[in-house]
Amino acid sequence: MKYDVIIVGAGPGGIFSAYELVKKNPKLKIAVFEEGYSLEKRKCPIDGDKVKSCIKCKTCAIMNGFGGAGAFSDGKYNITNDFGGTLYEHIGKKEAIDLMKYVDEINVSHGGEGTKMYSTAGTKFKKVCIQNKLKLLDASVRHLGTDINYVVLENLYAELKDKVEFFFQSPVEKIEVLEDGYRISYSKGAVECSQCIVSVGRSGSKWMETVCKDLDIATKSNRVDIGVRVEIPAVIFSHLTDELYESKIVYRTEKFEDNVRTFCMNPNGIVVNENTNGIVTVNGHSYEGADKQTENTNFALLVAKHFSEPFKDSNGYGESIARLSNMLGGGVILQRFGDLVRGRRSTAKRIEEGLVTPTLAATPGDLSLVLPKRILDGIIEMIYALDKIAPGTANDDTLLYGVEVKFYNMEVDIDENLETKYKGLYIIGDGSGVTHSLSHASASGIYVARRIAETI
Ligand SMILES: Cc1cc2nc3c(=O)[nH]c(=O)nc-3n(C[C@H](O)[C@H](O)[C@H](O)COP(=O)(O)OP(=O)(O)OC[C@H]3O[C@@H](n4cnc5c(N)ncnc54)[C@H](O)[C@@H]3O)c2cc1C
Repeated sequence: MKYDVIIVGAGPGGIFSAYELVKKNPKLKIAVFEEGYSLEKRKCPIDGDKVKSCIKCKTCAIMNGFGGAGAFSDGKYNITNDFGGTLYEHIGKKEAIDLMKYVDEINVSHGGEGTKMYSTAGTKFKKVCIQNKLKLLDASVRHLGTDINYVVLENLYAELKDKVEFFFQSPVEKIEVLEDGYRISYSKGAVECSQCIVSVGRSGSKWMETVCKDLDIATKSNRVDIGVRVEIPAVIFSHLTDELYESKIVYRTEKFEDNVRTFCMNPNGIVVNENTNGIVTVNGHSYEGADKQTENTNFALLVAKHFSEPFKDSNGYGESIARLSNMLGGGVILQRFGDLVRGRRSTAKRIEEGLVTPTLAATPGDLSLVLPKRILDGIIEMIYALDKIAPGTANDDTLLYGVEVKFYNMEVDIDENLETKYKGLYIIGDGSGVTHSLSHASASGIYVARRIAETI
C-alpha cells in the first residue's frame, strides 16, 4: 500500500494538514495514523464518583485521539506571535498571522460561528498593568469553549472521513527512509508514502526523540515552565476576563529578576488533572455553555526555567518536581494561599471552611515541600502584584493547585518549510518544539500542506 502523504498524529497539526491537502488536491491518497481513539470513543474514566483521580490508562483519552491534546481543551485560539510558539521564526511573522486567521475562519465555518473573538487592541488594562509592574501581551483570542471546540472537531471529522483514511489505535513505531519516500511501521503492519508529516504533539515527545536519534536529525532542549494553577472567585478577575477573556500578563520578580506569567485563563471554569506519560499535573478548562460554568476562574502562574550547559534534560527536571508532588499528594496538591504564606499545610477542614470551593478534588498539602524556593517566591510575588490590578487575588482563601508544568518538546532541526534534512519529511506542531498552542500547531499544518500540494 502506498500513499501520497501519511500524517502521523490526529491533533490540530495533523487535522489541519489533512484538511488543507484535501482542499488543495482532492486526488491525493492520504492516511492519518493516530495512537488514540476516534473522537466519540475518547472517554476519561474519571467520573468523580467511582473513579476520582487518574488511573494512568495506557492511552490517555485526554491527550490522545482525534483532536489531540486540544480536544477537551478550552479551545482558545490565540492569534499572536507574542506567545504560543515560534512558528514565525521559520515562516515569517505575517505568514504566521495570516495562517492563524485562516484557521480561525475554518473553525468559525465548522461550528464556531457565534463564538466571541476578544482582543487587547486599545484596552485600558495595558496602562493599569504597566503602572503596577505588569506587562499585558498583545493578542486576539477566539474562545470556542470546550463544548463548541468538540463540535468543530466533529464537523471536521465528518468532512474528512470519506476523503482521508484514518487509522485509530495505531501508534506509529518507526519511520524508515526509502529511496523514493518513507516506510511507516505501525502496531498492525507497515505502509509506504512519498511524503510524511509528523505531528505527534507533547504526548509523542519521547517517541519523537527516538525518531530523531534513528534518523540522525539534530535537536536541542533547554526550557521547562513550572508553577501552580490559581483558583479564585470569578468576580475578582471579571473586569479583565469580560473584556479580554484571557489576559497574558508577565511580571518580573524583584528578588531574582525571573519572569512569571499568567497562562491559560479559564473564566467560570474548572481545574482538571492532566496525565503526561504517567505523571499527573494540573490544567484548566472552561465551557461556553452557561449551564456548565462555575463561580470560579482559574489560571496558571508559571516561571520559565532555561538551563545552560552541561544540563540538557529540562523536561526531566520538570518531571521530577511533578513526581514529587505525586509522591506526596498521590496526584495534585492543593493549598490555600493563606496557608502557604503562613508556612503551614492546608487540611481538608481549612479548605472546606474557606470561601472558595475547589473545582478539582486534590489532596490538601504543602506546596513549599515540592516547588523550589526560587519558583515559589516568584509566584508569591506575582500574586501580590496581581492583587493590585485585581484586588482579592492575594486573599487567604485563594486556592493553589500544584504542580502545573508546561513541558516543551525538544526543538527539532527543520528549515523554513518545516522540512527535515530528508526531502518530504516534515515535523510540525508541538512535536517539533516550534509550536506550543492550538493556533500555531494548526497553522503549521496548513503551511506544510500547501508546500506539499505545490510539490506533488
Ligand atoms: C487540557 C489542555 C488544555 C489546553 N488548552 C489550550 C488552549 O485553550 N489554547 C491553546 O492554544 N492550547 C491549549 N492546549 C495546548 C494544545 O492542546 C496543544 O498545543 C495542541 O493540541 C498541539 O497540537 P498538535 O497537533 O501539535 O499535538 P497534539 O494535539 O498533542 O496531537 C498529537 C497527536 O498525535 C498522537 N500521537 C502521538 N504519538 C503518536 C505515534 N507514535 N503514532 C500515532 N499517533 C501519535 C497523539 O495521540 C495525539 O492525538 C491545551 C492542552 C491541554 C492538555
